[in-house]
Amino acid sequence: MNRISFVLFFCVNILIAQQTEYVDFKKVESVLLFNQMKVDSTVFNSYEVKFDILKQTDSIYLDAIDMKFLNVSLDKAAVNFKNDGKKLIVYNTFESNKTYTLNFLFFASPKKAMYFIDWDYEDGNKQIWTQGQGKYTSNWLPSIDDMNDKIEFDLSVVAPKGYQVISNGKMVSKRETPTYNLWQFDMQNPMSSYLVALVIGKYKKTVKHSKSGIPLEMYYYPKDHSKFEPTYRYTKQIFDFLEEEIGVPYPWQNYKQVPVKDFLYAGMENTSATIFADSFVIDSIAFVDKNYVNVNAHELAHQWFGDLVTETSGTHHWLQEGFATYYALLAERDIFGEDYYYWRLYEYAQELLEQDKAGGSTSLLNPKSSSTTFYKKGAWVLHLLREEVGDEAFKKGVKQYLKNHKFENVETKDFISEVEKTSGVDLNDFVNKWIESPSLNYEDMEGFFYLTSTSYKGFLQLDCSVSKAACFEFIKSTDNTYLKSEVIRRLKGDLPKDIFANSDIMVRQAVAQSLTEIPTELKSNYESLLNDASYLTIETALFNLWKNFPLEREKYFNKTKDIQGFNDKNVRLLWLTLALITEDYESENKQVFLNELTSYTSPKYGFELRQNAFFYLDQIQACEEACKENLKQATTHHNWRFKKFAKTLLEKENK
Ligand SMILES: [Zn+2]
Repeated sequence: MNRISFVLFFCVNILIAQQTEYVDFKKVESVLLFNQMKVDSTVFNSYEVKFDILKQTDSIYLDAIDMKFLNVSLDKAAVNFKNDGKKLIVYNTFESNKTYTLNFLFFASPKKAMYFIDWDYEDGNKQIWTQGQGKYTSNWLPSIDDMNDKIEFDLSVVAPKGYQVISNGKMVSKRETPTYNLWQFDMQNPMSSYLVALVIGKYKKTVKHSKSGIPLEMYYYPKDHSKFEPTYRYTKQIFDFLEEEIGVPYPWQNYKQVPVKDFLYAGMENTSATIFADSFVIDSIAFVDKNYVNVNAHELAHQWFGDLVTETSGTHHWLQEGFATYYALLAERDIFGEDYYYWRLYEYAQELLEQDKAGGSTSLLNPKSSSTTFYKKGAWVLHLLREEVGDEAFKKGVKQYLKNHKFENVETKDFISEVEKTSGVDLNDFVNKWIESPSLNYEDMEGFFYLTSTSYKGFLQLDCSVSKAACFEFIKSTDNTYLKSEVIRRLKGDLPKDIFANSDIMVRQAVAQSLTEIPTELKSNYESLLNDASYLTIETALFNLWKNFPLEREKYFNKTKDIQGFNDKNVRLLWLTLALITEDYESENKQVFLNELTSYTSPKYGFELRQNAFFYLDQIQACEEACKENLKQATTHHNWRFKKFAKTLLEKENK
């Protein structure tokens, strides 16, 4: 590096830290072209951004990774610019208190943040979707990586006919040509760049309206018509509940939810357009074990906590994740009741305790904290704060906090000071103990249960290895399904003789899991678990019955041969695997079974199903050529967990 470039590099670095002091980007209008549902390097997208200069400066920049630019102009005149592969830097004598308009054409070929799904298969479920948080929107759209500059983004998209386009804000027009449609979206308020989103795919939608009149657009694949109701069950109730509970009207024009294939997380709260993993698109039976309710409520809560008010930096990440986790729990309490609420809090406390024992407790304000800390300790802190100051002051404080900082960036003190004002309580000690200190204070959390609930008091005093009788008595006496199930699991199969007198589906699931060695006198009771409306129960029961009663395997196979299970086909894959290793069961069909199991490793399926299929094939040492080929393909997948799984397994297979 020579000296001149060193100086330049230094200047750019200064700009990175301080651009928000010089420039305020106001509004972006961009037209994006997806002519063939494939990357076409000849297609340039148009872009216009308006910005105010706050302090005189000789350059401004947009983050833009590996892009090409054409026709760059400032207020309609050609202008000097530099594209360094990470930024588009525009040089000019920018005067303070003036507004400028920058226009250009750009071409992007994103390696991340925008994903092209099923591109290579003729019959694939072709989709494009984006993920800004943690990946940077600037991989596909020139924008500002810094969360502290909020911009109104109005996207327009040209997509082939037959495809639905979903983006932030309200779709204000759709112009049709014989082959393409132009979709125009309008936002009325600004957001941080990481919340800009785009989905293109084949969808149907149903629209309901909230009590306050906000359109709730719920998208689904045409084939999933029958899964629509269980997937989106309680959506309107959750929306109405949160709007009422938070006390501030939903801040955007509408609310859209879109499932996508092979998503990176459970869900992402893009402004007015939540994207979620299509593994949550479920039928009524799956609803029992794996529903979308928690993720639905969590991402919706973010529309206020994260999107309307946004952290200034990772130090205050709990203002987003802790709040979303806490408000999701409140929404779930409204649906599933008080017992559910306390059980989840108890589970969160156990997870935090585990982390604590492993030396992983950190301050809530440590930007390197784990998700467990940000999400679960964050939720606990809000729960305890509400206990401390009372419902009314807490709710008023939250409301003031949102109102005073809407469309801005926030820090922890902004929230705490509002609650101090509405409650009149000095929260210094509370903040020190629960927010700043790395100590978990588990005893106080457990103490909370002693104070609020007699069932928890009894439960927390139980030790089944010391007194089985006390545990039996607790199972009999409590009507708390969650605690009863937990005690049954802790008894590890050593259960009261009349355990099957319980008819609750979750309690029966706990029995299925607890009783891995089935006494003959409980055999017919245990067999009845195969009739339960729970894919998890059926999977567990099928395996345990197959293991315990080898002479009756054919009966169990015949009873469960038509059950698929969750989207990852948990029941079907177990069935195929067991059928393959049961020598005297349909020996003429072994190849058919193996072919079916192997087919699920293909990239046309979601990665959860593929991972399950690879796992079982590896277990029975039947990952043959086609399986290995698919495994090799999986090592290039965009989901890093699946990719890592595939790499490890491939190494093992090749040994
Ligand atoms: Zn979240």
